[in-house]
Amino acid sequence: AGTQDGRIKMKAFDTATVDAATIQEALKRPSQRSTDMIMGIVKPIIDDVRVNGDRALLSYTHKFEKATSLTSPVLNAPYPDHLMQLDPETIKAIDISYENIRRFHAAQAETKPLSVETMPGVTCSRTSKPIERVGLYVPGGTAVLPSTALMLGVPAMVAGCKTIALASPPRADGTLTPEIVYVAHKIGATQIVLAGGAQAVAALAYGTDSVAKVDKILGPGNQFVTAAKMHVSNDTSAGVAIDMPAGPSEVLVVCDATSHPAFVASDLLSQAEHGVDSQVILIAVGMTAAQLAAVDDEVHAQASALPRVNIVRGAIAHSFTLCVPTIEEAMRLSNQYAPEHLILQTEDPEAAAAMVEHAGSIFIGPWTPESVGDYSAGVNHSLPTYGYARQYSGVSLSSFTKHITASRLTREGLRNVGGAVMQLAKVEELDAHRRAVEIRMKWLDGEGKSE
Ligand code: NAD
Repeated sequence: AGTQDGRIKMKAFDTATVDAATIQEALKRPSQRSTDMIMGIVKPIIDDVRVNGDRALLSYTHKFEKATSLTSPVLNAPYPDHLMQLDPETIKAIDISYENIRRFHAAQAETKPLSVETMPGVTCSRTSKPIERVGLYVPGGTAVLPSTALMLGVPAMVAGCKTIALASPPRADGTLTPEIVYVAHKIGATQIVLAGGAQAVAALAYGTDSVAKVDKILGPGNQFVTAAKMHVSNDTSAGVAIDMPAGPSEVLVVCDATSHPAFVASDLLSQAEHGVDSQVILIAVGMTAAQLAAVDDEVHAQASALPRVNIVRGAIAHSFTLCVPTIEEAMRLSNQYAPEHLILQTEDPEAAAAMVEHAGSIFIGPWTPESVGDYSAGVNHSLPTYGYARQYSGVSLSSFTKHITASRLTREGLRNVGGAVMQLAKVEELDAHRRAVEIRMKWLDGEGKSE
């Protein structure tokens, strides 16, 4: 509907003239394909890899990736130089991005354990430890995604994970793009698993003769990858965690009369080119019809010149502009949508940022296109989609760590807190719990008498 007469144009609603129900409907994400159907495809693949290990893993790589010459499903470090031959410009770009991502994630480290004396003699502490073994899924398919390898690999390295397996489907000749091998080398990945889809996820979750079993699997992927991650994380015998639910990428841009129409359009399109299921939303604050038309013209002109124009057309067809009178109304709607990416190109973007309650990552001001966060600024690009920004954070250092708590009581501490413990154990009718305190309290009373 948004592309009548060949013109690439987003539908527009004015919140002053349409009812709230129409706005609600527009803010719904496009519906997803049935997960039952996908699960039906994925489960036999997982079972096969679990039972038959490397042999099954290789057979799926031969089938799906057409990499029939591949004889081993893994590459172990150190990786040979000839597999990571790159031009100097690409090496420089990866190195700059790596360093910025490393700096931002290293700064997230908890440098000393938290320790609190909750009552005299009762000390509670908490220490952060790396997750020992992680599996990072880097989608293959049609795209080359060294940026995803960086966004997952650098925090894993900074966290100190001992085993870092990086899985990605190989090309038909059995090799990976050299960019990904170079990133694997830089982040100290212990192993590259040359497989994709549900079979790669199963190999990481259960381990095979050549693939090391991991404790957590992170990374985006298509519906087969996502369904497989959900399946293995629900299998208690696998003992594996996953990062977060993943859906198609999305952006919400807030602009006003001070925004540059070309900048606004470029940000909308940089998201729309991800896939036909991507969604882009523009919230225009207090703009005239002429100002809105200027943005529309830019969207059409820039989109028409893109190599991925057909993907853009698909995404634009279920994307739209909302015209609102105030920044407060804009941010209310943005919070309701909880976008993965939120771009603020308004007169006072910092003030708008202060109103954000739900978003994966915010891009503040006209000089901060989302692309910088996707690649090189230092923030992570693995973010919650589909409204999950309400309750999930994007990937960060803490995605690769866990906490261990500890308590230590002195005699005085047990005297101070023991009564409360015994009373609650009594209420819960757990007598052994009560006695574990009582036996010590009696001993302390006796000790007190003999002093
Ligand atoms: P992919 O690596 O996710 O999936 C490829 C695998 O899918 C193949 O190895 C194969 O095993 C499996 N597969 C394909 N067809 C199958 C079938 N009929 N039955 C069973 N398995 C099948 O690569 P992709 O398909 O190109 O998808 C990439 C996805 O990653 C996209 O959905 C994209 O939106 C997403 N992505 C997200 C981000 C992000 O950070 N959010 C970044 C990059 C890509």
